[in-house]
Amino acid sequence: MSKLSDNVSRLVKPVIRDMKAYHVAPSDGMLKLDAMENPYVWSDDLKQEWLKTIANCEINRYPSAAADEVVDAIRKAMNVPEDLDVMLGNGSDELIQLLALALDDVSMLSVEPAFVMYKVIADTVGMDYYSVLLNDDFSLNMDVLLETISEKNPGLIFLAVPNNPTGNCFDEADLRKIIEQTNALVVIDEAYVAFTDADMLSLASEYDNVLVMRTFSKMGLAGLRLGMLFGKKAWIEEINKIRLPYNINVLTQATTLFALQHYDVLLEQAEKLKSERQRLMAELIALDGVEVFPSEANFLLVRTEKPAEEIHLALKESSVLVKCLANTHPLLNSCLRITVSTEEENSRFMQAFKHAL
Ligand SMILES: *Cc1c(COP(=O)(O)O)cnc(C)c1O
Repeated sequence: MSKLSDNVSRLVKPVIRDMKAYHVAPSDGMLKLDAMENPYVWSDDLKQEWLKTIANCEINRYPSAAADEVVDAIRKAMNVPEDLDVMLGNGSDELIQLLALALDDVSMLSVEPAFVMYKVIADTVGMDYYSVLLNDDFSLNMDVLLETISEKNPGLIFLAVPNNPTGNCFDEADLRKIIEQTNALVVIDEAYVAFTDADMLSLASEYDNVLVMRTFSKMGLAGLRLGMLFGKKAWIEEINKIRLPYNINVLTQATTLFALQHYDVLLEQAEKLKSERQRLMAELIALDGVEVFPSEANFLLVRTEKPAEEIHLALKESSVLVKCLANTHPLLNSCLRITVSTEEENSRFMQAFKHAL
């Protein structure tokens, strides 16, 4: 036993021993509003059609390594310009990891609060990680940001537009200023692009130091695990070399092709969630002791007068699971993050929330 733990401490990297495994809250039997999943499922007809596609998959064969058919379908559905190459990952999390692994002895920079995986992955690969505090309204603090960039000279910058967990989009003029003033590769993470009019894909064409990342996860297919990286060929070619050859499995490839043949269904679901977001927002604003931040994503960030931990717990007792962000960051003091869901589920949430307040 002690030999085992000696061996583990001797052989596993100290940075990894110091890490905590990514925690996923238990959610059996709960109304799950903590992970920005899409609540809508496919119609029975669509499901039957999908199952036929899956039944014909050659599961005994390796998948297409380049996933060309899937890439072509993505290009068409998302109007990807000719001058950009596309690379696929097992979720965009894998793409973040590949970027961190590919860049040469550099540090990573993002903002705070930001998507937690940037720092987790920087730590994993032994990269220094710098983060610049957002303003109180969650906009970019440009003075400090540009100063930090010139002082630390990071090689890789991640900015999510809209940002998670704050829900707002950063100003495009600010993004351009950052891109123009840094030596870094700037990755714009558009995980929530389906829920906003902002669209930064053209920046990857316009600038040599910009990549854009998207995912099917928030668009309705979190179980699929498919992320996309768009950028100039010279970048994608290099990063593609360290992608494990068959990272996108046969079932994911077939399902993505099927989903893109029915892309209108996904887009329609996103539209419904956008209008539900407005409704939920209006109802939350009307409550006393609740501050709601503007959101262009499929979640709402709220600050409660009563401690968020207490409300989180009371919601849990009513079988409603949201993300408690209190104690994660000073700017998120007494904040909760709530995934926007169906009309029926949002109403159930509102009822439990009012009770919890
Ligand atoms: C959810 C999320 C991701 C992760 O997406 P996957 O494709 O599921 O790995 C990436 N970036 C941001 C900002 C997210 O919120």
